[in-house]
Amino acid sequence: MMKQINAEIVAVGTELLLGQIANTNAQWISQQFALYGVNVHYHNVVGDNLERVHDQFNQALKRSDVIVITGGLGPTEDDLTREAFKLLSGMSIVEHKPSMDKIISYFQKNQIKMTPNNYKQARIFEGATVLENKVGMAPGMIVSYCDKTVIFLPGVPKEMKQLFSDGVLPFIQGMSDETNVIESTMLQFIGIGEATLEHELKDIIAKQTNPTIAPLAQTDGVAIRLTAKANTKDEAKRLIIDAQTQIETRIGSYLYGINDESIEQRVFNLLIDQKKTIAAAESLTGGMFTDRLIGVEGASAVCPGGIVCYDNKIKERLLHVPSRIINDSGVVSEECANLLATNVRTVFGSSIGISFTGVAGPNSVEGHPVGTVFIGIVDEGGNKTVEKYLFHGNRQTIRKRAVWKGYELLFNYLK
Ligand code: ATP
Repeated sequence: MMKQINAEIVAVGTELLLGQIANTNAQWISQQFALYGVNVHYHNVVGDNLERVHDQFNQALKRSDVIVITGGLGPTEDDLTREAFKLLSGMSIVEHKPSMDKIISYFQKNQIKMTPNNYKQARIFEGATVLENKVGMAPGMIVSYCDKTVIFLPGVPKEMKQLFSDGVLPFIQGMSDETNVIESTMLQFIGIGEATLEHELKDIIAKQTNPTIAPLAQTDGVAIRLTAKANTKDEAKRLIIDAQTQIETRIGSYLYGINDESIEQRVFNLLIDQKKTIAAAESLTGGMFTDRLIGVEGASAVCPGGIVCYDNKIKERLLHVPSRIINDSGVVSEECANLLATNVRTVFGSSIGISFTGVAGPNSVEGHPVGTVFIGIVDEGGNKTVEKYLFHGNRQTIRKRAVWKGYELLFNYLK
């Protein structure tokens, strides 16, 4: 039976509450704990206020086995993490000679005048396990109090990480009877909504406990996070692969990436595999489609360029859309999308041409409501498709959705 450790993380610092910095310490510590099978149940942030830090300790000690606290160990007045815990525990604070010597020699070596408040950084709780800070001044501490473990770490991320890796993780491993590893994988989907995805996997999700299967709606597309717990990394990976295979048999055709693989990366890979190139004629998307593709390393092999054809004159002059089409069918039309894709392909000599024309808003165009978008794809074999959509949202959302849809169409065309 594995011994479960329940931990919580307390970050001290008013700048976190003011939104001046993000609590990346808690994010990083949680990731590390996950790998070691420690359950993190709470992330807390508290300002530099003695009473509130004290209250936070009080609450954390009632519900968690391990409390990791970062920040507030420095030399200044507002660094009051030690004082708050002393107030609560009644434990004595003593000077840690090796840390004190280190601080003094730092100031001497750098010929800087040392102010008395720097001594504060060498103060530790009596009986604490001291974690040597190899990057900065204040040491970390592991304190046992009422059957609980309280771990004090500096706020500076570089220092916190060194102390956590060198001191905290070996300590935590020692607390656990067995190694307990968590592995996690994200499966990224395009062209399927969250509701349909959940419906398709309803029975699998209901009976699966290890790995857990969590569908997540994202700004673009839908993802599934698989999280497995096991005694070894290999065993956890095997559990994930088994679940992934099961999921892929149902909805594998929508799966475009694993973890942080992007849709443009996947489309790039498909273009490379099939030795194809693509050029885009972009009206309402203003180059956003091409920008994403060119963001992929090595993009010159698949994308010779593109044209932003926002103005009608550019559609006529550079992409040879006859004024007759513009006058009769309009620029927001199947005909125009088709000609833009056909002619951008010819201009750049690419295997595929893609076009985006539509109404980003706020005003309607040619009688079409805001959000109307035509996307055309034309290839060297003469295959042509134009799809019409109605996207919702503001101007930027409509433009982004059009680009995403363009990638979805291309992915389906290429795979
Ligand atoms: P110092 O010895 O520098 O005073 P400290 O232990 O007192 O360290 P803080 O003063 O609270 O820590 O924080 C020092 C710096 O570390 C902050 O200005 C901030 O840039 C960074 N920091 C603090 N807490 C966090 C956090 N939770 N996540 C990310 N960065 C943090």
